[in-house]
Amino acid sequence: MSTLEIRDLHVQVETKEGPKQILRGVDLTVNSGETHAIMGPNGSGKSTLAYSLAGHPKYEVTSGSVTLDGEDVLEMSVDARARAGLFLAMQYPVEVPGVSVSNFLRSAKTAIDGEAPKLRTWVKDVKESMSNLRMDESFAERSVNEGFSGGEKKRNEILQLELLKPKIAVLDETDSGLDVDALRIVSEGVNRAKDNTGLGLLLITHYTRILRYIKPDFVHVFVAGKVAEEGGSELAERLEAEGYDRFLTGTSA
Ligand code: ADP
Ligand code: MG
Ligand code: MG
Repeated sequence: MSTLEIRDLHVQVETKEGPKQILRGVDLTVNSGETHAIMGPNGSGKSTLAYSLAGHPKYEVTSGSVTLDGEDVLEMSVDARARAGLFLAMQYPVEVPGVSVSNFLRSAKTAIDGEAPKLRTWVKDVKESMSNLRMDESFAERSVNEGFSGGEKKRNEILQLELLKPKIAVLDETDSGLDVDALRIVSEGVNRAKDNTGLGLLLITHYTRILRYIKPDFVHVFVAGKVAEEGGSELAERLEAEGYDRFLTGTSA
């Protein structure tokens, strides 16, 4: 049983005009086995939360805390965050030219587990996950994210999620740019990880459609850098019907 705890998180980003406050006191707790959806209008700071959890150097935490099972995540290097069991899939995944998907996965698995995976089971596991995600085997030899379509990038992330078996995963707009079939395949992969490993999930999304496939236990609505409203999956249904308008009256967004 793991717990990611975000307390009163304030984050500013470095811009050309100087530092800009984006997150203004985020409170969230994600336990193993729970799925939390973070929804909200564009520009409300959802990706900033993901970048902050990932330790992106542009995003400066000015106050608040993030812990994983009591350990201070903000003090950890990016690698240490992964070893501690955090998995972070960004809205715009980076390309890693010259490193194949297969080598990347094996290095990451080795770094996270502290030992190389046993070759025979590993090869079998990779093949099985790729087949589940309807990925052609030739995909394993391509450079990570280089020339990948939007859908391929997202499948590659879920492949990592299935094989690296993190405790808590943060997925930023995993649904963006996916057609209905790809969305279903990707969602099934996430649900397998939930069922098989008791993954705790922070699912960031602007739209509700992925939540038809991955049922959230909790929905948090982000507005202007903090959680403005919380509820169960019925809140997502309400947002689908009404949009974000009622949160935006009185703001400049
Ligand atoms: P969301 O993911 O909810 O659409 P973001 O976290 O991407 O929102 O952005 C929140 C706000 O912070 C926006 O106003 C955006 O322009 C600003 N912002 C985020 N990152 C940067 C950056 N690197 N430089 C300048 N502004 C940024
Ligand atoms: Mg956005
Ligand atoms: Mg975003």
